[in-house]
Amino acid sequence: MIIIKTPDELVAMRISGKKTATILHKVAAKIAPGVTTKELDEYAAELAREQEGRCAFFGFHGFSGHICASINEEVVHGIPGPRMIRNGDIVGIDFGLVYGGFVGDTAITVAAGEIDPEWTRLLDVTKQALHAGISKAIEGNRLSDISNAVQSVAEGAGFSVVRDFVGHGIGREMHEDPQIPNYGPAGRGPVLKAGMTLAIEPMINLGVHKTKTLKDGWTVITKDHLPSAHFEHTIAVGKETAEILTLPEQAFDG
Ligand code: MG
Repeated sequence: MIIIKTPDELVAMRISGKKTATILHKVAAKIAPGVTTKELDEYAAELAREQEGRCAFFGFHGFSGHICASINEEVVHGIPGPRMIRNGDIVGIDFGLVYGGFVGDTAITVAAGEIDPEWTRLLDVTKQALHAGISKAIEGNRLSDISNAVQSVAEGAGFSVVRDFVGHGIGREMHEDPQIPNYGPAGRGPVLKAGMTLAIEPMINLGVHKTKTLKDGWTVITKDHLPSAHFEHTIAVGKETAEILTLPEQAFDG
């Protein structure tokens, strides 16, 4: 069942979304060669405490991090640890915060130092694919209009769309109905209504779409070990336009 949020609930989700995004962008601004993902994780935990929010990923099915940090061929769910970021890496940070009873969920992928131009294009296209998807989150459209818009941008640029992981409804729970694939024909699935809140999150690969999970049980990597990018916003479906709930107070321009 897809939960339609009331105007008061949307007010609460705007607050939690802005806090979530502000923390993400502060953490992203620390990404640089020589920094470990554990340091990023500790910084996120500290910022969440300051905001009096709870990190949504910490302890989720036993996950040990406050963020997910996924480097290069790591698609999603990388566990923060002693790995040091190197010049030329791309680093995906995914962060969820519970505040006022509502979850915000947002992700960004940024370059550390100088990266391969093709990797820069992967980041740009993934961000464009996310926004193409968001532009379809309007009352009266069908859910898969979002999916198809994401896929068209990604594949139109010569990249591939991860199929094993999807976006999701979000609200009091981090994962609510519906699931939102990033591929598929338009015009399918539930009709969108204003007040639905969705986490749209394309994961786009430079090479093949196939992934595998490492022995740690969490870290997802590309099967061909080529890089992957991930961007995510929590949004509210609107009558005329979608509203992005996870815009930071000040954007880190990574
Ligand atoms: Mg998510």
